[in-house]
Amino acid sequence: MVTGALGQSEAKRVTILGSTGSIGDSTIDLIERDPEAYKIVALTAQSNWSKLADQAKRLRPEMVALGDRAGFASLKSALAGTSVRVVAGPEGICEAAALPSDWVMAAIAGAAGLKPTLAAVERGAVVGLANKECLVCAGTLFMAAVQTHKATLLPVDSEHNAIFQVFDFEQKDKIRKIILTASGGPFRTRSLKEMANVTPEQAVAHPNWSMGAKISVDSASMMNKGLEVIEAYHLFGLNNDRIDILVHPQSVVHSMVEYEDGSTLAQLGSPDMRTPIAYALGWPKRVAAPVSRLDLAKLGSLTFEAPDLVRFPALRLARAALQTGGAAPTILNAANEIAVARFLAGEIGFLDIAAIVEHTLTRVPLQSVATLDDIVAVDGEARRVAATTNLSAAAE
Ligand code: NAD
Ligand code: MG
Repeated sequence: MVTGALGQSEAKRVTILGSTGSIGDSTIDLIERDPEAYKIVALTAQSNWSKLADQAKRLRPEMVALGDRAGFASLKSALAGTSVRVVAGPEGICEAAALPSDWVMAAIAGAAGLKPTLAAVERGAVVGLANKECLVCAGTLFMAAVQTHKATLLPVDSEHNAIFQVFDFEQKDKIRKIILTASGGPFRTRSLKEMANVTPEQAVAHPNWSMGAKISVDSASMMNKGLEVIEAYHLFGLNNDRIDILVHPQSVVHSMVEYEDGSTLAQLGSPDMRTPIAYALGWPKRVAAPVSRLDLAKLGSLTFEAPDLVRFPALRLARAALQTGGAAPTILNAANEIAVARFLAGEIGFLDIAAIVEHTLTRVPLQSVATLDDIVAVDGEARRVAATTNLSAAAE
């Protein structure tokens, strides 16, 4: 609920970018448990028109947008007789993002989320940000747009949401570092030799979290944590050397902030994205989430260990890209997206993902990324290199 001009409660008008994905599902689950509190303005998806049509029939948005034009006719006929406006193509998704609403969930996977999320930022929206890739590929430009248009960013990624909850923005100078926890993924204890032969099915089977395929593979390679270091750098304005990574296989402590006086503050919870989504959805108030409650006595112990940069080279690559700055994180992200897609398609092995990212970083020139056009150009070039990299040839 939001408060109207006369102090009365009004339904919060919500846009969900990437409504058919894992974060989209969790967001809709929360909204459908309290239907009076929300009015859906727009929903968007890439290709799953039938799921988008089902969501639209239940939630009655003003507009739905489908990225892939091939499904437009089917979506339109599925919604015939309703008042829902149907648009298609990447511009259609940006049009949906630009419609006035009180709150936006940015949950498109990958750099494809950049333009739509920017369209929401440019109208000064309150944005729940799940789409970490838009900060990795265009963090400086994105954060400048947030400032210029007075948008509000609420981190949804569980680690950044945890930090946001315990980060004293008024006394930032008293913060020594932040500590991002990482589950370590399904291959935490596997040797490099074993990882060379893992299948996509094994890589997407995350031990604690249920997520989309791309982020699940990123968790397995720990590139996800590397992307999250870059995300944290932009969200909290702390340098690389003040962002630690700590492996915590139970995924209960979602991240921590260490203060000058020796206090370390953490946020804990069951590994269920509905908690950080609910935090952002209700902000600045808290709203209920139907998640299983923490039972620490039952859990008994929580364990922590240092990350292994040898078995998980993606961590090293992401930190190096952040240190290099400029176009390097854009290249890292684009190359990773392509390499993950190639791995999921059975074209390359699991360890080739980081190898392709590393190779692409050495091949694509570090040109300027001052404008959106620059970013699109660098991103495109990195995708082309990563898509055509043949590792046995690259090694010669
Ligand atoms: P997902 O693959 O389940 O869903 C992605 C959504 O984006 C779908 O609705 C899909 O239709 C849409 N989409 C995909 N490609 C698109 C394109 N080219 N143009 C427009 N729309 C497109 O992914 P997810 O797991 O829900 O993750 C979404 C984002 O949230 C990612 O950036 C991910 O890193 C981040 N995130 C997810 C989780 C999680 O638990 N799932 C946790 C933290 C952060
Ligand atoms: Mg995370």
